[in-house]
Amino acid sequence: MAALGRVAAFRLPPLPTIGEIIKLYRLKAQRQLSQNFLLDLRLTDKIVKQAGELKNAHVCEVGPGPGGITRSILSADVEQLLLIEKDARFIPGLQMLSEAAPGKVRIVHGDILTYKMEKAFPKHLKKAWEDEPPDIHIIGNLPFSVSTPLIIKWLENVSKKDGPFTYGRTQMTLTFQKEVGERLTANPGGKQRSRLSIMAQHLCSVENCFIIPGEAFVPKPEVDVAVVHFTPLVQPKIQQPFELVEKVVRSVFQFRRKYCFRGLETLFPESGRLKRTEQLMMTANVDPTLRPFQLSMSQFRNLCNTYRKMCDEDSSLFVFDYREELKQKKTTRNLLKSTSEPEQTEEEEDQL
Ligand code: SAM
Repeated sequence: MAALGRVAAFRLPPLPTIGEIIKLYRLKAQRQLSQNFLLDLRLTDKIVKQAGELKNAHVCEVGPGPGGITRSILSADVEQLLLIEKDARFIPGLQMLSEAAPGKVRIVHGDILTYKMEKAFPKHLKKAWEDEPPDIHIIGNLPFSVSTPLIIKWLENVSKKDGPFTYGRTQMTLTFQKEVGERLTANPGGKQRSRLSIMAQHLCSVENCFIIPGEAFVPKPEVDVAVVHFTPLVQPKIQQPFELVEKVVRSVFQFRRKYCFRGLETLFPESGRLKRTEQLMMTANVDPTLRPFQLSMSQFRNLCNTYRKMCDEDSSLFVFDYREELKQKKTTRNLLKSTSEPEQTEEEEDQL
């Protein structure tokens, strides 16, 4: 569990409330941009506490909006706070906060999906990967349409030790739609076990900290919200390139309710498919009749290691694309104007 940090170690001067800031700068939440604000500073303190000890830390807050979480971060007496906000309407309110904590805040009007995080913090903060995590934290309550692609991007960065992880095992405390939080932390056999569970848990220790009920936000979103804390692992549980793990995991979960054999078959070209899938499952010692959500992390590791060996022996294997093969077969069938054969319409059940 993440060490609970102290909040309220630094006292901000009297400021308008977040509600008053919203009124003052006419910051009406834009529903089409999924803007939902947290006005209750006890709740923002609780989120910030999950990040751990922040005194003298360097923090990047993504999507600060009207600045509720921002105030709690500043109250934790951080050394530096970098704010990355896409919507220009919030910048004047954030500048007011910056003036209340002189020399501590840097505001970037930009998009976190393209911002170069590898240059965001001073070089002297870098730690070796095997060391304790650096004194750098990422915290954010972003729209769900941004937080899910962002965590996938950052998991790839963890695997490659680049982006925010150029500095070592940078910790992240982020919010997600409750179901996504459950997927991120789901155990084998769990209803929510999915592609995201394996990709996150093989690279990070992932903790579903607590649930914020939708009612706590203004305006209220359709769903409840999970606060999730990530600490990159010193040793990933699967020691293979991100793209290879991603391909194996995606193939397995492609047919969620079928035996895992069905999804794994799609790693191989049609000629020799059955034999090679059997070879993969035998060598990896995985029961082909298990369902994707029943597979343990070590079974995924065995599958990835065995598939890697098969790719090393056959250089054309890794680039094989099952969907491309299906597309080509369809085109050929259309060209032959064959109407006798029914179309292959297997239901795709992939779920992140
Ligand atoms: N953090 C604030 C809070 O908890 O009250 C605001 C939350 S609101 C759900 C999400 C915020 O993220 C908005 O201020 C929005 O403008 C910002 N945002 C959305 N997409 C972004 C992106 N790609 N990069 C940076 N900020 C983004």
